[in-house]
Amino acid sequence: MSKPDLNCSFCGRPKPETQLLIAGLDAHICDRCIEQAHGIVLEEASEQDKSSTSIELKPPKEIKSFLDDYVIGQEASKRVLSVAVYNHYKRLIQENTKENDIEIQKSNVLLVGPTGTGKTLLAQTISRLLKVPLAIVDATVLTEAGYVGEDVESILSRLLQAADYDVDKAERGIVFIDEIDKIARKSDNPSITRDVSGEGVQQALLKLLEGTIVNVPPKGGRKHPDQKFIEVDTSNILFIAGGAFDGIEAHINKRLNLQAIGYKTALEKRDIDKENILQYITPRDVRAFGLIPEIIGRLPVLTYMSPLDEITLRTILTTPKNALIKQYIQLFAMDNIELQFTPGALDFIVEKALQYKLGARGLRSLCEAVLNDAMFELPETKIKKLKVTKQYADQKLSKIELPKLKVVS
Ligand code: ADP
Repeated sequence: MSKPDLNCSFCGRPKPETQLLIAGLDAHICDRCIEQAHGIVLEEASEQDKSSTSIELKPPKEIKSFLDDYVIGQEASKRVLSVAVYNHYKRLIQENTKENDIEIQKSNVLLVGPTGTGKTLLAQTISRLLKVPLAIVDATVLTEAGYVGEDVESILSRLLQAADYDVDKAERGIVFIDEIDKIARKSDNPSITRDVSGEGVQQALLKLLEGTIVNVPPKGGRKHPDQKFIEVDTSNILFIAGGAFDGIEAHINKRLNLQAIGYKTALEKRDIDKENILQYITPRDVRAFGLIPEIIGRLPVLTYMSPLDEITLRTILTTPKNALIKQYIQLFAMDNIELQFTPGALDFIVEKALQYKLGARGLRSLCEAVLNDAMFELPETKIKKLKVTKQYADQKLSKIELPKLKVVS
């Protein structure tokens, strides 16, 4: 008896018209139907992916405790930022549900504090927690449209890049604008000359911070007529701006003194902690420093970073999830070498970082300098253990000129 003609059970195509017909228990499927089915599977998966990346609201304490794993000290900033992030995402949820018509304002953040105290790290850690893309941009390279330098739109090109060109993801991402203090108005009188690099850029940033739809050239750089633009809505992007604001203490001091003299305020009675004057910062001081009021209004969450003292630096070296010492121990372990540091050696490294004002960034350079010889020599020897003592560290560091140590971030 001849075999009956086989058909694809899905599209009915007879076997001779297919390139491939796969047999199941009671059915067959042809190559074209397999392809189509595969397409459907991919589409479904990406839909599920989208819903799984939809916002998961984490309460402030949970956000803070995640930050604690990576960022040492900076309690005030971490608390303020946890609430800001929480409120930001509440705002997004409300927008999605459109439950009522009270419009919650954006919670963009301004972080003021010395360089190397963890501002970028905070932004990075939050993006890691929320699994949203992060773009880190330097305000000093930004210029008004039409001038040499990067347009403010280039910020969004970076964010798109970080989001693998997924516009939805980019629109829920975080932008960290570093060195925002460098675009402060240089003079108190705004109208003397046109201030290309300062106030003009602040003006250009305003709309972005508040929320607008921007045509973004996908690869960044200058706009070009035949380049296709991608529309990005910035309303739900969280902007975190950071800067050292060198010299802002003078404005804070002035205000505090004036208050103490002019009015009987609570501050007069309270002891002012002169060591860390930044903790009293208010938007007025930022304005006196030279940021325009409109920018300050669009960065409504203001907080400060404390300088890193000895204990904090020591903790940074050993405690965070990806602490430097843990990283080196891991690197050596991969060569089957057990690496140990004595407490004296750790104290010594911290002492050098403080002495030469290298800050937390300097810790990395110091560790490199201490361990470089060992990392070069040991992998091909039989040595299976290295104990770094204060003496060992001192000997290695004495070979280099510390003030010239290049600080790597
Ligand atoms: P900033 O942006 O304030 O100039 P960064 O966040 O770039 O400083 O800090 C530089 C490096 O120093 C970080 O990558 C991190 O390794 C370390 N660091 C700085 N501050 C802290 C901190 N508070 N906790 C842990 N590590 C820190």
